Amino acid sequence: MPDSLPSAGFAALELPVPILRALDQVGYETPTPIQLQSIPPLLQGRDLLGQAQTGTGKTAAFALPLLARLDLAVSAPPQLLVLTPTRELAIQVAEACATYARYLPGLRVLPLYGGKDYGSQLQALRRGVQVVVGTPGRIMDHLRRGTLRLAALQALVLDEPDEMLRMGFIDDAVMVGGMTRMPQL
Ligand code: AMP
Repeated sequence: MPDSLPSAGFAALELPVPILRALDQVGYETPTPIQLQSIPPLLQGRDLLGQAQTGTGKTAAFALPLLARLDLAVSAPPQLLVLTPTRELAIQVAEACATYARYLPGLRVLPLYGGKDYGSQLQALRRGVQVVVGTPGRIMDHLRRGTLRLAALQALVLDEPDEMLRMGFIDDAVMVGGMTRMPQL
């Protein structure tokens, strides 16, 4: 395979070259089934409800196409919001997004979760980020304080909504969804 065609399996899905380069570096060669099914419609900006077991590559299934659609020329307000039920998942998803976006110039990802001081979160929000990954409670806090604005949101992801439902987070998640201009599933 020529060097100019890294991760051909992903290239066939028409992901941008900087993302293909990052995938090549992390050693992803073949898209998993959920990635094959979700990347094309999400690249087209369509809504999607995906279901797959843990460990099947669902983070990349939504992150790769949604990162590919971001406008890197603007850094605020955020364009992509991912809600997760736990801080551990927020950190993990934010790290995955940062890895996949390594070669997207100027892209910034911010995890926002409870138990962490507001100071550093406010500083990062003020500096500007395109992607926020957070737990519903802390995201609602920032929305109520006016420190997070969703006016420019292009995509909203509810990661593990069954867990959010189980943990009683669903009211906050629905409220965050209602504050966006995203179509409701
Ligand atoms: P997830 O289901 O998103 O938690 O992903 C499970 C693991 O699979 C993570 O360690 C990912 O880095 C890895 N992974 C995701 N997609 C691929 C792929 N296409 N090829 C190889 N590894 C992958």
